[in-house]
Amino acid sequence: NMAWTRQTRRREPVDLRTDQAHTARMYDYLLGGKDNFPADREAAEQAIAGAPYLRTTARENRAFMHRAVRHLAEQQGIRQFLDIGTGIPTSPNLHEVAQAAAPDARVVYTDNDPIVLTHARALLGGSAAGRTAYLEADLGDVDTILDSAELRDTLDLSRPVAVSVIAILHFLPDPDAAYDIVRRLVAPLPAGSCLTISHATADFDPTMEEQAARSYRARGIPVRLRSRDEIAPFFAGFDLVAPGIQSVHRWRPDDNASAAIPDGQVNVYGAVGSKR
Ligand code: SAH
Repeated sequence: NMAWTRQTRRREPVDLRTDQAHTARMYDYLLGGKDNFPADREAAEQAIAGAPYLRTTARENRAFMHRAVRHLAEQQGIRQFLDIGTGIPTSPNLHEVAQAAAPDARVVYTDNDPIVLTHARALLGGSAAGRTAYLEADLGDVDTILDSAELRDTLDLSRPVAVSVIAILHFLPDPDAAYDIVRRLVAPLPAGSCLTISHATADFDPTMEEQAARSYRARGIPVRLRSRDEIAPFFAGFDLVAPGIQSVHRWRPDDNASAAIPDGQVNVYGAVGSKR
């Protein structure tokens, strides 16, 4: 894939800092993946010791992404996706879900973690009718993302785009910057574009603050939990798709299988909005 070649050719050899715990690799471990190292497993196990349901949290967050993308492709007619904070590939990835519903769907993935780039090949094998690209970028560098060749060669910004920022905004420490970043990210997109967010919260379990401090902040990973009222402003200018901002496992569930899971074992809100 051209976009990937261009991106990798100009890179220096990457130091993956495998001695330090990383959010992407901790999440991969929680999902049962293999792309993690002892420091990641140790940090994740320590987090699980305080919150034994964390695997459920990771699984339900991932399942929300699948249902949201299917909804966007099938119900909202979306054919273009910009996924920020993609994470280490875990099948099915976003393009697989989107292209199963709409083979011509185009997807641009971005993440700022070099380990995700090393796995980017798994994100680029899209359907013949569709297209995928990978861009290494920080969510804070909105202009870099929007102006990148990877994005411009793949997406037509005059037509609706679904931007997804899933399980990443809570890692942006500056609350004001987070709102501004999302606002600038969706500003150039036409009406009918969509925004999908999932975000960690302490609304259902007040001990979440302490747990986040123990498992993430103590390792230098900033975490900012937000209440439902603090998540709503990300959707300024958007109409929330029913059922609005919900615990991820209660957002348009496929069946009743996860209905019995208490919200306090998920602690992640999810929502989809459509731009007015
Ligand atoms: N969206 C995926 C992965 C979530 S894990 C899912 O929900 O399944 C969070 C991801 O966000 C990690 O891969 C991490 O590297 C990435 N991330 C964290 N901060 C970021 C930033 N400032 N810019 C871009 N990516 C970031």
